[in-house]
Amino acid sequence: MKAWLDHVGIAVNDVAEALAFYRDALGLEIEGSEEVASQRVRAHFVRAGAAALELLEATAADSPIAKYVDRRGPGLHHITLRVDDLAAALARLKTRGIRLIDEQPRPGAEHAQVAFIHPSAAHGVLVELKQGPAAPTPADPGAGRHPDMPGFTPPDPFSQRIQRFQVGDLELISLYDGYIHLDGGAMFGIIPRTLWAPRVPPDARGRVTLAMRPLLIRGSRTMLIDAGLGDKEDARFCDIYGVERATHLEHALAEAGITADAIDVVVATHLHFDHAGGFTVRDAAGRVRPRFPRAQYVVRRGEWEVANHTHERNRASYRPANFLPLAEAGLLSLVDDDATVMPGVRLERTPGHTAHHQSIWIESRGQHAVFIGDLIPTTAHVPEAWIMGYDLYPVDTLVHKKQLLQTAEERAALLLFEHDPRVAAARVVGTAGRRTMEPVPPANP
Ligand SMILES: [Zn+2]
Ligand SMILES: [Zn+2]
Repeated sequence: MKAWLDHVGIAVNDVAEALAFYRDALGLEIEGSEEVASQRVRAHFVRAGAAALELLEATAADSPIAKYVDRRGPGLHHITLRVDDLAAALARLKTRGIRLIDEQPRPGAEHAQVAFIHPSAAHGVLVELKQGPAAPTPADPGAGRHPDMPGFTPPDPFSQRIQRFQVGDLELISLYDGYIHLDGGAMFGIIPRTLWAPRVPPDARGRVTLAMRPLLIRGSRTMLIDAGLGDKEDARFCDIYGVERATHLEHALAEAGITADAIDVVVATHLHFDHAGGFTVRDAAGRVRPRFPRAQYVVRRGEWEVANHTHERNRASYRPANFLPLAEAGLLSLVDDDATVMPGVRLERTPGHTAHHQSIWIESRGQHAVFIGDLIPTTAHVPEAWIMGYDLYPVDTLVHKKQLLQTAEERAALLLFEHDPRVAAARVVGTAGRRTMEPVPPANP
């Protein structure tokens, strides 16, 4: 069994005194604090390399931490080890007769599964085992935070609500289809792990968390851009890609008050499975059919050709069940060039990730937005050289990324990120070389 130290919990009596030591005397950095109301505890996070210290302060006399301090005085409260497979770890401990507090994994904060081992079995130390993605956790509230956005921590980044934005007369709704976890090295290409890992911490399997955020545009027609992963994939696929779809596109559309029949147009940035998977569904009879039966599905002809003539390097990304049924149902509309597909919505080829990848520019009453797709998948990919290893033509990505950011800056455009786990929309601040992103909160609460 492999385990990584996630954090060490320390019960403190007086947090000011504790900070005087950990922060002032040792010179460690306080990353923030979080109140856990159910435990009557406030946790203060202190970064220590890849792990963290968690200073635990009771907020009420009946808090477990208050009782602990009364009984034993301040000191080490627990250690948390991150494991790959919590159920397997517990099974292994059980066969060895180790006394457990939790026989089964139970939900912890932020998508993690946790279980405690009894201190009597662990030589006097309360040990928490944890399995979970590199999501923000109480020990790591900064996971995924980009250094270009100091202090930016959305209130509840993983709550997955739709986010509404207004661009002139057009309403944009950033939807969600859950998360996948992709190899961090592949996500950041030539950028050394020593640079990306502190910014976007990987999980125990080296993967980073990516959201899938299709976009809904309501104007003269109702348009969906990309549709996430969908639910046709098997358990092995879901394990490899760390698929988490506790809430998904069905929930998001319902939240937006949109039925599948209401979608007039579906646009594909490209046909990779995390964008086109939701274009089709498997029905009760096991047949795969288009998910939006009234929609015209708009795909670039070049991308369609590539998807239907794959080679060893791109084959894993294209799954025919995601797009062939569209042609069979007569719903496919191939476009050759950059085109306006409804008033205010224009497709523009932004090659690099794939040869015919496209981004979608949105304009109404002088206001602009751009849905970037995989040209710049997350805010961490804004710096010029931060280009995915998945990209087939990385130098093209570089050229088109620079152009798009330049244009976005000139137009003060809202940038819509499809894969950022925290930020759905942001604006460019500053110019090339010193460019930063300023997250834009949605219009809805
Ligand atoms: Zn892609
Ligand atoms: Zn993608």
